[in-house]
Amino acid sequence: MAVTRTFSIIKPDATRRNLTGGVTKMLEDAGLRVIASKRIQMTKEQAEGFYAVHRERPFFNDLVSFMISGPVVVQVLEGEDAVLTNRTVMGATNPENADEGTIRKTYAESIEANSVHGSDSDENAAIEIDYFFKPEEIVG
Ligand code: GDP
Repeated sequence: MAVTRTFSIIKPDATRRNLTGGVTKMLEDAGLRVIASKRIQMTKEQAEGFYAVHRERPFFNDLVSFMISGPVVVQVLEGEDAVLTNRTVMGATNPENADEGTIRKTYAESIEANSVHGSDSDENAAIEIDYFFKPEEIVG
């Protein structure tokens, strides 16, 4: 295993319920280090671009509306095998299927309002980090 990076979003359902700290603690307890973080209000264009891969899915418009319904916290996480480590602590997309002790089992409201995003590959992590962060914003 190697130390790698992944990209995380604390979604609007979590920021609305004041769970930024709770989610971040679970990420840190899983061995991930927050090496960049900012709270932003995503624009519709940003959200559409970020989720472009889902453009043809029936839930695309709802997903974009949800992601701009309040502030989000975008983060760069670093740790051993960061993509997999993060996906494991996040839990399944649908919280009903998520394992005990995962972020989504603990905090998610629904399959859509599921509290966190995490990159699904090293390649997408690099693309997603670049989408939201300038190199100088990643301070270690
Ligand atoms: P993830 O990698 O676990 O986040 O899951 P996906 O990449 O498949 O989906 C991206 C996001 O779209 C999810 O995190 C949910 O917020 C949302 N989503 C996925 N499937 C559904 C669905 O069936 N209905 C709705 N409303 N939203 C969904």
